[in-house]
Amino acid sequence: METIIVEPFRSELEALLREHATRSVDLLIVPDIARWCAERRGECLGNPCAMAITGKAGAWGILLRSEIDPDTVQSVKERIDLFGGHEDIDVFQRLDSPRAFVSLLVLHELAHLQNDWPQAKENDCDAWAFERLPFSENL
Ligand SMILES: [Zn+2]
Repeated sequence: METIIVEPFRSELEALLREHATRSVDLLIVPDIARWCAERRGECLGNPCAMAITGKAGAWGILLRSEIDPDTVQSVKERIDLFGGHEDIDVFQRLDSPRAFVSLLVLHELAHLQNDWPQAKENDCDAWAFERLPFSENL
């Protein structure tokens, strides 16, 4: 897979958020999430390719890195496959298109917001996201 350029998927991702979120979510596509945080909110953990944020007044937002390189894509898939416990899901097959991959990232972050799940619930977030991920041929 080549480097994923996220911006062309914006309208589909926003539609996915409207479908599955119980309130509005701002999708912010930024070059560097760690830098974005450092400039506005203080440090974030590492430099993820996606992150859920809540505003002081309770507004929901999802940050997404604007370009995601193949190594990052691969390492995210491997983490989900190795540690996710999704025995019934072929992770690599389900995430074989850029569209499916970025959709999974956004749904995962929405899982944190929608269920108020902390960082320790990564696998639950992935499972929640897979349940709502459209199949590639339908995307
Ligand atoms: Zn997470």
